[in-house]
Amino acid sequence: MKRTITDLVNLKGKVVLLRVDFNVPLDNSGRIVDDTRIKNEIPTIKYLIEQKARVVILSHLGRPEGYDVHKSLWPVSLVLAKYLPCNVSFCNTVIGQEAKERIKLLQEGNVLLLENVRFYKQEEECDMKFSREIASMGDIFVDDAFGVAHRKHASNFGVARILPNAIGFLMEKELTNLNQILENPKRPFVAVQGGAKVETKTKILEKFIEKADTILIGGAMAYTFLKVLGQSVGRSKVYEESMESAMNILLKAKQAGKKVLLPIDHVCARMGDPSKVFVTDQLGGDMVAYDIGPKTIELYKNEIAGAGEIFWNGPMGMYENAAFSNGTYKIAESIAHAKGHTSVGGGDTVATVNLFNLAKGFDYISTGGGATLEYLENGSLPAIDVIQEKIR
Ligand code: ADP
Ligand code: MG
Repeated sequence: MKRTITDLVNLKGKVVLLRVDFNVPLDNSGRIVDDTRIKNEIPTIKYLIEQKARVVILSHLGRPEGYDVHKSLWPVSLVLAKYLPCNVSFCNTVIGQEAKERIKLLQEGNVLLLENVRFYKQEEECDMKFSREIASMGDIFVDDAFGVAHRKHASNFGVARILPNAIGFLMEKELTNLNQILENPKRPFVAVQGGAKVETKTKILEKFIEKADTILIGGAMAYTFLKVLGQSVGRSKVYEESMESAMNILLKAKQAGKKVLLPIDHVCARMGDPSKVFVTDQLGGDMVAYDIGPKTIELYKNEIAGAGEIFWNGPMGMYENAAFSNGTYKIAESIAHAKGHTSVGGGDTVATVNLFNLAKGFDYISTGGGATLEYLENGSLPAIDVIQEKIR
């Protein structure tokens, strides 16, 4: 078990460097479209300010190359101030004289947000000098940025290796939930796996064969599996480079006696003519499948209804187009109404849950995309590995 912020004593007056994930979506004019990531962080920050710590926050935003005024965290500091009962100030650098001065002036129980750490190329290089400079400004490091914990960057991995450290409440919640899925899933455990590239989902599927009882496959990736089984898929997307992996996954599932279900009907259109949409259980010719059909939805809904544990990643179809969003909607809805313990992870998948207004129905919505899948695959992540263990 990793040390958490409640294990830290005597925080009064200490400078706590808190790494968070304030990577919020922005519209074209730079306005924050959705502040969920800011709200998620409030319990950790509130706890630290109640302990009278001096809280210095580090985060990334987007993928800037050098300084980019449109990727500044300044607007985030204004939203953060709305949710906190203390002073929230902003510093437009991460390291250097200015940052040091601002931290010196920071009073107990108040918050200082530093600028986007990705304005410095040393961040993603995990440059040790940069890590040491950040670490030199604080007494303790707290990592609550689950979404980037699969990355070895300076402001998570680098700083954690230098300072005494702990995880925050958000990270703790993620680990508790994901560990439960890995170590103690309720039965039967049904994994719902959709999405696009097979390559990025091979490892998680292998994990599910080990841990789950039933795997429901949908999305573009399903057609690579159907092709491996010798079925005609028409012109649907097939990831040729992943055919062998797909074959291995099906073999492993068979050996392990696990049930893998694939779509039995499809919502499709003809190549080059997306205007005429139709349902078929026999793909062929120039047909392209963009969503699972009604019989597949019924088949999958039955499995979901009987499940004790459900983990879902990956849309069932090309949901961005309303003509092909029904499969994803129906599956999302049935998971939201299921009696089992339900979790969802993945950038696009969580976006669909919010789009369909179904978030309330889920027991757990992971804040990570790549990090969530990698944690389930490996049971650990680099930036979490470097955090100290709890002293029992
Ligand atoms: P996540 O981000 O939740 O891990 P992915 O990125 O793996 O999910 O998958 C989401 C993408 O998969 C979406 O852009 C969606 O349009 C695409 N997709 C799903 N099914 C199909 C399909 N049948 N044909 C084309 N694209 C699909
Ligand atoms: Mg995605």
